[in-house]
Amino acid sequence: MSKLDKRSWAEPFKIKMVELLKMTTEEQREKAIKEAGYNTFLLKSEDVYIDLLTDSGTSAMSDRQWSGMMMGDEAYAGSRNFYNLDAAMKKYYGYKYLIPTHQGRGAENILSQVMIKKGDIVPGNMYFTTTRLHQELAGGTFVDVIIDEAHDSENPHPFKGNIDLNKLEAVIKKYGANKIPYVCVAVTVNLAGGQPVSMANLKEVRKLTQKHDIKIMLDMTRIAENAYFIQQREKGYARKSIAAIVKEICSNTDGATFSGKKDALVNIGGFLVLNDKDAYEEASNLVVVYEGLHTYGGMAGRDMEAMAIGIEESVQDEHMKARVGQVLYLGEMMKKAEIPIVQPTGGHGVFIDAKKFLPHLKQDQFPAQVLAAELYADAGIRTMERGIVSAGRNAKTGDHYFPKLELVRLTIPRRVYTQAHMDVIAESVERVYERRTKIKGLKMIYEPKYLRFFQARFSKL
Ligand SMILES: *Cc1c(COP(=O)(O)O)cnc(C)c1O
Repeated sequence: MSKLDKRSWAEPFKIKMVELLKMTTEEQREKAIKEAGYNTFLLKSEDVYIDLLTDSGTSAMSDRQWSGMMMGDEAYAGSRNFYNLDAAMKKYYGYKYLIPTHQGRGAENILSQVMIKKGDIVPGNMYFTTTRLHQELAGGTFVDVIIDEAHDSENPHPFKGNIDLNKLEAVIKKYGANKIPYVCVAVTVNLAGGQPVSMANLKEVRKLTQKHDIKIMLDMTRIAENAYFIQQREKGYARKSIAAIVKEICSNTDGATFSGKKDALVNIGGFLVLNDKDAYEEASNLVVVYEGLHTYGGMAGRDMEAMAIGIEESVQDEHMKARVGQVLYLGEMMKKAEIPIVQPTGGHGVFIDAKKFLPHLKQDQFPAQVLAAELYADAGIRTMERGIVSAGRNAKTGDHYFPKLELVRLTIPRRVYTQAHMDVIAESVERVYERRTKIKGLKMIYEPKYLRFFQARFSKL
């Protein structure tokens, strides 16, 4: 892992079908991004060459998954594909009960409603947007118990997703165990930059929570990527398979929510899994209200089949080596060019530190927003702002939140782009870096009330 070996992660597949992309000129892109109010969310996908907006639902399915789509049993109740998904879940994750949902947030809603009472506290390793919102809507309060290193973009800690046991213990002491329905452990931690949790840390958390009779619920959206980092970095795991590590993670928890749109290589789908029978019964009753019958939960039969196959493909060692290998390759290229990025490179993308990239801009001149716009204009690469625009305003004072991290996220879809695309991305970032001192800030000319980053519009200063 220390030395860059370009061949070491070569893809364990060959390409059978391609999607042609429109090539644009710099002039066309300048016009498109101006029309989009310098917001990459408002670009037409057609005008994008390499789309790194998200890794969610954007992966390429295999021929096996596509043939599975043809085997969809679209019966309202008891679809064959539900049982196939249930079997794959039990084989690879080992939980007792499966409740399919339309995507991850559907599972988060049901879990929160079943487990959280008004006034409860839910500790977790850094928040995720939809997860936290559902906890709050159910009457709970989220408390961040991630280690401090996670908030420092340059800290090279190998498991920056770890939970700080002292912080967790302090939360239990302060509020009492009966106020804490579960600890929410995310593997990997998305907002920290795709950073993993170590097995040792998870086991320590298990020991502490069991002492207080508190459950652990996993956000297992990128569990296979987390398992890859354990295999590569943690003592005693080098010879264990990803599949074995994934199952060991699950065995230290009581249930999980899952977005199939990431690890599981499908465009839509998710689920909630539980070991407790009473909680399962309540959840499978609620799923009928919000998602659909408990044997489809908002998914078509064909989508459940593709997900069952995708789960199996996601835990193959050679797949994960290529998936994370490609991301690390891009990270290495950036480091060589001395681009300031979050260290270490995470599992699903490379995060550029926009404050360090554009130090002459003040944070309320939106450095990450303007950098994302510049990357699009340079080579048609679409990325996402994760900084002051995403953070929003304080509802009481009306002031911007000024988050510590002002990042541009380059998220890599699975099995979609080639090494040559990675080279083009790195070259483009380097070009923009070379002319960084000439880049001017932005001003916001339209600001929506909720989740402003999706629809805000800007003009150049
Ligand atoms: C995407 C995501 C979710 C939500 O899943 P959706 O399928 O988008 O609803 C939850 N947690 C994490 C860590 C995610 O990345």
